[in-house]
Amino acid sequence: MAIDSDYVTNTHTNNCEYTVFTPNTDLRMTTSTKSSTLGAIFRQRCPRCRQGGIFFYSIFRGFPKMHQRCAVCDLKFQREEGYFLGAMYISFGLALAIIALIAALLWAITGWWITKDLVWAVVLFLPLAPSISLFARVLWIYLDQTFDPEPPGLGNINR
Ligand SMILES: [Zn+2]
Repeated sequence: MAIDSDYVTNTHTNNCEYTVFTPNTDLRMTTSTKSSTLGAIFRQRCPRCRQGGIFFYSIFRGFPKMHQRCAVCDLKFQREEGYFLGAMYISFGLALAIIALIAALLWAITGWWITKDLVWAVVLFLPLAPSISLFARVLWIYLDQTFDPEPPGLGNINR
């Protein structure tokens, strides 16, 4: 199962059509705008001001709690109840992609039977799972703010 665009559309707003988010295209960093977005995603910054942190500390150093709102521009990160359901699909897709990648690497290096590669890939993936699920939330917030931005009037952003 992959991230299905129907899932993403249905779980959130019905009034805007958007296609499935593909992290691969972002990773190519063709323009400086894209690289700064990517940098902000990896540093888990607020999608609106790119300064305030989404989490109390980096997701790569543990399992931090989320801030309710951006400390800099007051953007509310969890917009509504069940908001992060969409992040679960992203998280699931990321998990499958990473497990497949690890399995392929193991297979290429060791030449083991593919089932053994897969089992070890899952075992090696497990320590990453908490970070991946939080990283999916960051991607989800960015995705949501890209297609359905919070109006600058809400929150105390200074413009
Ligand atoms: Zn902000």
